[in-house]
Amino acid sequence: MKLTGRCLCEAISYEIDGSLGPIFNCHCSKCRRWHGAAFRTRASITKSQLTWVTGEHLLSRFNSSDNVVKTFCSVCGSNLMSFYENDPDLVGVPLGGLEQHPGSAPIANIFVGSKAPWYELTDGLPQYQEWPISESNVRETKS
Ligand SMILES: [Zn+2]
Ligand SMILES: [Zn+2]
Repeated sequence: MKLTGRCLCEAISYEIDGSLGPIFNCHCSKCRRWHGAAFRTRASITKSQLTWVTGEHLLSRFNSSDNVVKTFCSVCGSNLMSFYENDPDLVGVPLGGLEQHPGSAPIANIFVGSKAPWYELTDGLPQYQEWPISESNVRETKS
């Protein structure tokens, strides 16, 4: 499977080779502020699955906490991949930028303790206060 995605201004585009790992809706306060939204829908992949097709030089980077680097388009501000300095093979992908159905859907809501008070969870998915599985196990690379 090959997935493609791009930022709002389309200067940055990327390809993902193979399947995404488990998909989560992250309600942590950092994702909410980062996306300006109720939550970030994200999946993990391995670094080898990701190819920047165009515009990699336009990526801006922000250390949102120790070991976590958020990237975004320096032109249009679209939120892109997360990188983890303590797990360099892991990449967090936002599903909003994808151009295809990835073949799976969110399996849980995470960091629900930080959920926006105005957002009601009605999807019936399991709710967790943090990562339901260890961060290094969220990858799943079947292709
Ligand atoms: Zn852009
Ligand atoms: Zn989050």
